Amino acid sequence: MSQKVVFLPGDGIGKEVAAGARQVLDECSGRHQLNLQVEEYDLGGTAIDKHGEPLPQFVLDACLESKIVFLGAVGDPRFDASPPHLRPEKALLGLRKALELFANLRPIRTYSELIDASTLKREVIEDVDILIVRELTGGIYFGEPRGLETRSGNRVGFNTEIYADYEVERISRIAFEASRLRSGRVTSVDKSNVLESSQLWRVVVEEVAKDYSDVKLDHLLIDNCAMQLVARPRSFDVLLTNNMFGDILSDEAAMLTGSIGMLPSASVGATGGEGRVGLYEPVHGSAPDIAGQDKANPLAAIGCVALLFRYSLDRDDIACQIEQAIEKVLSEGIRTGDIAVAGSRVVGTCEMVDAVLERL
Ligand code: NAD
Repeated sequence: MSQKVVFLPGDGIGKEVAAGARQVLDECSGRHQLNLQVEEYDLGGTAIDKHGEPLPQFVLDACLESKIVFLGAVGDPRFDASPPHLRPEKALLGLRKALELFANLRPIRTYSELIDASTLKREVIEDVDILIVRELTGGIYFGEPRGLETRSGNRVGFNTEIYADYEVERISRIAFEASRLRSGRVTSVDKSNVLESSQLWRVVVEEVAKDYSDVKLDHLLIDNCAMQLVARPRSFDVLLTNNMFGDILSDEAAMLTGSIGMLPSASVGATGGEGRVGLYEPVHGSAPDIAGQDKANPLAAIGCVALLFRYSLDRDDIACQIEQAIEKVLSEGIRTGDIAVAGSRVVGTCEMVDAVLERL
């Protein structure tokens, strides 16, 4: 049986890094006789140019049908003054909504060769390997009521932090299952000393944990977690968070690694029908300042291909091979400009992709 994979290169460096990611996917697919059928579609500004809208319905249909989607990046300054529905970024929101991407998985790994690119001390961040599992469609960013009003002559702004048990349950299961592919530890983050929504969160996480007796669970309050993440980042394995806490912690954790060009991410969707949707995208954007110059770091995009094999195709072995190839390239001092240090051999996007392919 063949498995379809939809590739959405998007705009700017999205196209360049997606081309590299595709080469790695094709190479692994061929070598392991996986019969993956890759279909490429336009998205973002490129789709506006060709089809008049950032996320055409036929592109969305292909994503829903294949259930495995790779996205480069969208964003193009030519559309900065366009109305909201004709901006490339609208495609991202449309995709996230249609695919019901309720879980975002962001691995945070420090490569020993890049440690000096971080602002933190080597002895603190060496060998950090964390997976942040963030709830993405609930909580205070979407809760009702929300608004701006005048009450008794004072202007007030208000939002609602609300979680239903099923939302906490499904994100918890993603975290527990992901931890089984790692060292089997989950730290759930909440503010249960103050917030009722966090009290429910903690109760539901404990209930789900009963189905995963092989996984070790602990809980941390968000304020303490923010502190521990920079004090002892090596001690974390999987961090399970709600939407807002994950938003903040994932940016804090990104600083442990040094460069945005190194960070892959995966999102899991809940759309109806068989199986789950997986959307894989680098954390970075379309970087118009370096687009079309063969300067983009493709390692985040290639890291996404590793995640795709791990989470959508159940091939942790291939994921590890890709990650080891990336490590090998870095250990040999081969770098794109964003992660170069004195003495590095600085290469362009294409040469970096070739270097990874050679070491696979
Ligand atoms: P950006 O991530 O595109 O760039 C920020 C800085 O990091 C730039 O200096 C860029 O050159 C550098 N950079 C980013 N990725 C890099 C890589 N792989 N290799 C080397 N350097 C890299 O963020 P921005 O400048 O705020 O946004 C540019 C456009 O991208 C905007 O239109 C924005 O809306 C869009 N965007 C899209 C996504 C997405 O598609 N998921 C995410 C963020 C921003």
